[in-house]
Amino acid sequence: MLKIHIPYAHASSIFDIEMDFFKKEGVKTLLVDLDNTLDSYQTKTPSKRVYELKDKLAENGIQMIIVSNNTGKRVTTYATELNVPFISSIGKPFARKLIKKMKELGIDLTTSMMVGDQTVTDIACGNRAKIKTVLTDKIVKEDQPTTHFNRLFDRPIRRSLKKKNLLREWRSL
Ligand SMILES: [Mg+2]
Repeated sequence: MLKIHIPYAHASSIFDIEMDFFKKEGVKTLLVDLDNTLDSYQTKTPSKRVYELKDKLAENGIQMIIVSNNTGKRVTTYATELNVPFISSIGKPFARKLIKKMKELGIDLTTSMMVGDQTVTDIACGNRAKIKTVLTDKIVKEDQPTTHFNRLFDRPIRRSLKKKNLLREWRSL
């Protein structure tokens, strides 16, 4: 486990987090991972609860942006259907493309927060970009084949974070 793998907070699921948490943290832009954070990689179109989450965020003045390592087609179809901005093939765990795109979109990183289900990609990228991060658990058991390799690292990192008491629940903050 490295320092970049330590999330700011942990939530069982993005759907559990109350809007008050984001507001208290001063979040204006929520950068959300797609696969196994919002929906299964096999789900082509957004689930009902994802639409509800987007609307609830919007009502609270928070813009959702999908940031995915997945390729253009999958992300474009999904995000277009949901009608939110997106960045595909973003290159997590690295933050170079994210920072560049945020600049292009005129988005302030200091009022952004990253949410994702993988320490080695989502959390590392957010920390590198100096964005607050929330680590979630997988929403479905199945990962896409390319993620299996990452899980070999993600699982022991999570164990280590737990053991060292470094997974702070969002409710406790
Ligand atoms: Mg994911």
